[in-house]
Amino acid sequence: MEPEQLAQFKTILEERLRELLGEAEKTVSGMSNDIDTFPDPTDRASLETDRNFLLRIRDRERKLIGKIKEALQRIEDGTYGICEACGEPIGEKRLLARPVTTLCIECKARQEKEERNRGL
Ligand SMILES: [Zn+2]
Repeated sequence: MEPEQLAQFKTILEERLRELLGEAEKTVSGMSNDIDTFPDPTDRASLETDRNFLLRIRDRERKLIGKIKEALQRIEDGTYGICEACGEPIGEKRLLARPVTTLCIECKARQEKEERNRGL
């Protein structure tokens, strides 16, 4: 991949990471509300549901943050944009749609098919 292209993806990934980390901070401060200040059981239940919802989002965000950090590391290593299964370059369109991907479209399709065949 051309250095200019790499720089472009690095910017995209870093911006996404900053966004996610900003969101994560907001989520944490949103959760610091003391649950005992809602004595009504109905309020309390809905607050706990919200909290579970936030935790699920946090989990997804954490995974994505990890993937973005790995992608940034691959940019440093010079392996970014190369399919880890077949070693061929991943199409730029696919990378733009999904900058954290490690598989080209063919390998991804094959992986999904295999997973379906295994009933996953
Ligand atoms: Zn591939």
